[in-house]
Amino acid sequence: MDKNIVTVEKVNKYFSKILVLNDVSLKIQRSNVVVICGPSGCGKSTLLRCINGLESLNSGDIIINDKSILNKNNLRAIRLELGMVFQQFNLFPHKTVLENIILSPIINLGINKDEAIANGRKLLERVGILQKENDFPSSLSGGQQQRVAIARGLAMQPKIMMFDEPTSALDPEMIKEVLDVMIELAHDGMTMIVVTHEMGFAKEVADKIVMMDEGSIIEESEPKDFFGNPKNNRTKLFLSKILN
Ligand code: ADP
Ligand code: MG
Repeated sequence: MDKNIVTVEKVNKYFSKILVLNDVSLKIQRSNVVVICGPSGCGKSTLLRCINGLESLNSGDIIINDKSILNKNNLRAIRLELGMVFQQFNLFPHKTVLENIILSPIINLGINKDEAIANGRKLLERVGILQKENDFPSSLSGGQQQRVAIARGLAMQPKIMMFDEPTSALDPEMIKEVLDVMIELAHDGMTMIVVTHEMGFAKEVADKIVMMDEGSIIEESEPKDFFGNPKNNRTKLFLSKILN
């Protein structure tokens, strides 16, 4: 078995004639946390969407847990191994918190309802929000909704969790409660790919920080080198802008 659970190999991706991912290669080991940062429009979301097969590649390959995304027969299995959390929580507004969490495991994993409810409650407890199980998402704060979205992702028992700017839509006082859940998840050994500009989070749990610019990975290093000794001028500029 490959020690890398995710291998992105020389991926190129165009939107019409614009090259949005330029020869992107990235390896992620099991239980590692990789933080991806870079300016708006540099291709971070597109990379995540390519990894879970929502976007096709123009060239290159992505291997998830020994399965190539290029083989259409692998797509369903790959998607089941990847959990995804978005900036906008994307909860079902007409379903309660607990219903949001049990729906997909029942439909897609064939878990029976009682078991799904028991699992769902455990997850809600883990993200600190069990008392809201019967409430509708609209009655929750943004931080609470995002914690529900994380629990919903975990309910599918994914091998990898991907986060696309999970705290960008949150009021400042709610960012920490979401990051704390993510930090705990990292410490529990989840493989995580996190697009974020929360550099405190990156410092604390990232095994690797990847800096993208204009569709390319321009720097990739451990946090201590990334912050202490950034090599690329664009990384230095980026850090000076977000760390002030
Ligand atoms: P980031 O997440 O880093 O802000 P994105 O991956 O969303 O960047 O976008 C990268 C580039 O691709 C941007 O120039 C964006 O305008 C373009 N883009 C993203 N999605 C599409 C799409 N569906 N069709 C056309 N262009 C797109
Ligand atoms: Mg994005």
